[in-house]
Parts: sequence; C-alpha cells; structure tokens
Amino acid sequence: MNPDETQQLIIEESAAARQLRAGFPWLRFEDDLEQAFRRELARSRLGQVRRNLFLAAALVLCFGLLNMLVIREGSRGLIGFLQFGLVLPVVLVAISVTYLENAHRVYPRVAPMLAVVGGIAMIAVEVKASQAGVQIVFVSVVLASIFVYYLFGLLFYQALRANLVMWCAYLGFGVVGTLPETNVLYNAIVLLLTNVIGATTAYTFETEIRTHFLEARMLEETAARDGLTGLYNRRRFDEHLATAWQMAGREGAAVALLLVDIDFFKRYNDHHGHQAGDECMKAVAAALRRSARRPLDFVARYGGEEFAVVLYDPSRLYLEETASRIHANIAGLNIAHGDSVASPNVTVSVGVAYVTPSAERSTQGFVQLADEALYQAKAEGRNRSVFSDQAYETLETGSFRRQRRAAL
Ligand code: GH3
Ligand code: MG
Ligand code: MG
Repeated sequence: MNPDETQQLIIEESAAARQLRAGFPWLRFEDDLEQAFRRELARSRLGQVRRNLFLAAALVLCFGLLNMLVIREGSRGLIGFLQFGLVLPVVLVAISVTYLENAHRVYPRVAPMLAVVGGIAMIAVEVKASQAGVQIVFVSVVLASIFVYYLFGLLFYQALRANLVMWCAYLGFGVVGTLPETNVLYNAIVLLLTNVIGATTAYTFETEIRTHFLEARMLEETAARDGLTGLYNRRRFDEHLATAWQMAGREGAAVALLLVDIDFFKRYNDHHGHQAGDECMKAVAAALRRSARRPLDFVARYGGEEFAVVLYDPSRLYLEETASRIHANIAGLNIAHGDSVASPNVTVSVGVAYVTPSAERSTQGFVQLADEALYQAKAEGRNRSVFSDQAYETLETGSFRRQRRAAL
C-alpha cells in the first residue's frame, strides 16, 4: 500500500467521510454525527441568534406601534394584547433562554415551539387587522416567515414545520374570521411563495453548513493521524492521554498504557530493506488495532517503531488479555525476520503501566513507568510483556522513579 492509499484508508474510515460520500438529502446525519453537528451548531450560533432576537423584539415593537396608528381605536384591544402580550413575550422568553447556562441545549428544544406560538399570534394579529379593514399588516406576516427561516436559529425542518403551521393557521383564521375570499386566497398564495423561497434558500444554506461541518471533521481526523500507519499520531496521543488521565483522576478510574516496540527493527531494515520495514510497520499497526477491541481503546504511533495503546479503566484481566492478544496477533502476521535473536519472525516487546491517577502525579511519570517496563522486557530477552506492578504498588504511597531508560 502506498502512502496515498493509506491516506485513503484513513479518510474512508472516518464517519464524516462516509456521510459526505453517502450524502444527506434529508438534512440528517447518522446518529452520533447528527448529535455532534447539532451541539456544535447550537454553541457556535447562540450569540448570533441572540442578536437576531433583539432585532426581532425591536421589530415587534415598531410594527406594534405602527399597527396601533393605522388601526382604528375600537379594534385595537385584542390586537394590542396579541402583539404586546403574546408575540413580544415569546421573543423575550427566547432571548432569556439564550442567557441560560446550558442555553445551547435548551434553546434548540424550546425555539421550535416558541416560533410556532409567536407565528400563530402574528397570523391572528393580521386576521384581526384585516377584519378591521387594514390589509397592509400582512407584510409583517411575510417578514415573520422569513425571520423564522433565517434568523430564529432553527434547523431547516423545524423552520419548515413552524411555517406550515403558520400557513394553515392563516387559512383557518381567514375562513373562520370570514375575511373576503379573494384576499385570503391571494395572501395565502403570497405566503406560500414566500415559503418556497425561504425553504429553498434555507435548505441550500443548511446543506452548506452541514458539508462544511463534515469537511472540518475530516480535516481534523486526518491531522490527528500518522501518514504511514494510519494510526493516531503522537500529538493526538498526548492529548488523549492527558484527557484520559484527568478523567480517571476525577472518577477514581484506572488507566493503562502499553508501549509496544518492534524487536531488532534496525536489523530488520538493514536485512530486508527500508521499504519492507515500512510494510512491516503497517502490518504491525493493523495488528495492534485489532488487539484493542473496546470502542474507546486507543492506539497510536508513539514515534519511530514504537506504538502506544491506552486503555481506560480496564480490568486487570482485560489488560493481560490485550497484551497477550498483541503478541498473538503479531505472531500471526508471520513476517520473517532474517536477523533477530528473539525469534525467526517479527516480534514486539511491551511495557505496561497500570495506574489509578492521583492529582499530584503527571502523565510524564506514567509514560516513564511504561518505558521502564519496556526496557525490562527488552533486557529479559524481548518478545514479551512486562507489567510495572512493582512500581504500581509503590505508587500508592511513593512517587515515580526518576531514572531514565539507559540505551541497550
Ligand atoms: P530493539 O529491539 O532494542 O528495539 O532494537 P531496534 O533495532 O528495534 O531499536 P533501535 O531503536 O536501535 O532502532 C529502531 C529502528 O527503527 C531504527 C529506524 O531505522 C527504524 N525505524 C523507525 N521509524 C521507521 C519507519 O518509519 N520506517 C522504517 N522502515 N524504519 C523505521
Ligand atoms: Mg525496537
Ligand atoms: Mg524503539
């Protein structure tokens, strides 16, 4: 496999890439991605939506006052109530929701309902104004429809649904309110066309932001990978270990780190050539990936011909099984090594650190512990795993040993 193909493999594996290839004509991703998309979108546009809502409050006030000017006194009561006692409070509630601590979770849930209530109230204002002989209020319904599509912070389908309810409400109120048929029909068609324009543009817009989201995820994913093996790279490993360490510290959980080093790999390169060395690295990487099976098990290229496996809160049994599986899977690759003292085939040595982190300890010491165990595995003859049990026992009370691994 050449590097391009490896790259291809990485991209193929990412859920974002799969989704991008499969398309999303219904503006919906597969579950995990959809949730991540909604979370990120809600977070990123909360500030903008809040500014839009302030604009909406100002518009409602302006239109409300304008309407009071053009509608004769006897008909103002109910209209005034609908505008200032219903539409405006709906907008104010929406604004205050954006200030909640968990607004990015609450707003997307309540916004569709608020849009429906506010929209229906706007329709009621229009119908009442028409009954009072003022036709031009219909313009504010068109504006409300557009606002719901673009500025209220709704997803396409939520906006479409709210608008359909508004449209039906207009027809319903129009008929019940015995407005002139021609007016109702004409306005209903205008509102329908507004919806066609609003929905088409909103659909295109959401397709674009969804595409952008997937592309950004893919880029992130590619940047976190090692070009040769397709495993996560060192940078991603450092981030992952820091996160796992912190989380384990909080939850009183254990973390295991397995440092895996190919035995006599310099000699392998010298004997079989660097290209064969690269192929061997890829095969070993794939074998490691098959060895750590739980969804959150993490495998990275640590550097050179060294790999790292991070297991979050594994049982001692799972940890031992994983180490055995690593040796078995690599033996199963059956790659001949013409110049190894340890075995006729390519083998690895594994150093394991297994720790329940406490606040004062760093990941550096943790890695050092695994590194020392790896050194011991090499010294004891390679092709084996060494667990830093001794150090783990003393860890409960002591601190990490400081000595550095000496070169073999
Ligand atoms: P030990 O059993 O003690 O680990 O011996 P070793 O020869 O594996 O260890 P050493 O650290 O002396 O050599 C590591 C070799 O790994 C040297 C380097 O050429 C090779 N290597 C590191 N990265 C790559 C790579 O990406 N491709 C290839 N082909 N070789 C690599
Ligand atoms: Mg080596
Ligand atoms: Mg090495």
